[in-house]
Amino acid sequence: MKLTRTISETRSHIKIRKGKTRSLGFVPTMGALHDGHISLVKRSLEENEITVVSIFVNPTQFNEEQDFKSYPRNLEKDLEILGRYPVDLVFAPSSGEIYPEPNTRKFDFGGLDSIMEGKHRPGHFNGVAQVVSRLLGIIEPDNAYFGEKDFQQLVIIRKLAEKMDLPVRITGCPIIRESDGLAISSRNKFLSPEERKSAVRISRSLFNAQKKAGKLPVEELKEQTIQYVNKDPRLKVEYFEIVDVRHLKPVRNWTGKSCKIGCIAVKIGNIRLIDNMNFYS
Ligand code: AMP
Repeated sequence: MKLTRTISETRSHIKIRKGKTRSLGFVPTMGALHDGHISLVKRSLEENEITVVSIFVNPTQFNEEQDFKSYPRNLEKDLEILGRYPVDLVFAPSSGEIYPEPNTRKFDFGGLDSIMEGKHRPGHFNGVAQVVSRLLGIIEPDNAYFGEKDFQQLVIIRKLAEKMDLPVRITGCPIIRESDGLAISSRNKFLSPEERKSAVRISRSLFNAQKKAGKLPVEELKEQTIQYVNKDPRLKVEYFEIVDVRHLKPVRNWTGKSCKIGCIAVKIGNIRLIDNMNFYS
């Protein structure tokens, strides 16, 4: 497994490894790797001859300086984990390598970014689009893998690839959960033992809502779900929305064929966790 820090060595390594015929799978991450990330890596290894993983904590997608500063970083440990798999290349650039000049590029996602995460984290998806478009331009993968854990991000990246005519197939991978149901996240390690116990309510609320989907009016289900989570004084729901999976438009009733998904963001102290679940009504 090779580690590269610069764009030029990354490109030349890929050129040699890829040749004319080998398919290349790419898994972009911000490091602090866990089983969620590894599920993406395994999928790429299954579907491609070459797999590239990037580790880059992207400053432009953080809307709070403190969140960026305290984001967990441990390259050595990440390399040790990735070394257990036949990953070809890990690209771990500096900020200056990715953004030699301040990146002022603005993207328009036609409203996909104005609700849920986009509404509560202004500028977040623009930052995600800046880094993902840059990384896809450097790596030029055939396939790129993203987690459904960040469902809105996945929809927006599909849109980005479509709008920019990028010759890459975007694959969404299922959420990996702890044994009690909590979606695995790099931020879980910041939870105190008490907060960790409380956090299980987040996925539980979604499993409960999934069972009730189609049986209660949408607004009532939303209200019940929010109340269930907020009942624990450690938790505070930032939003809970039920939207259609393609256009992320809020769903008002259960009629219509579109697949629906419930997306939630919850604050536990200073930690913010997100989760989602498909609702089949
Ligand atoms: P991050 O390092 O947080 O930017 O995540 C890198 C990729 O891993 C993103 O595509 C995430 O959606 C995905 N990911 C993070 N957590 C999980 C999880 N629990 N299950 C599946 N994918 C995940």
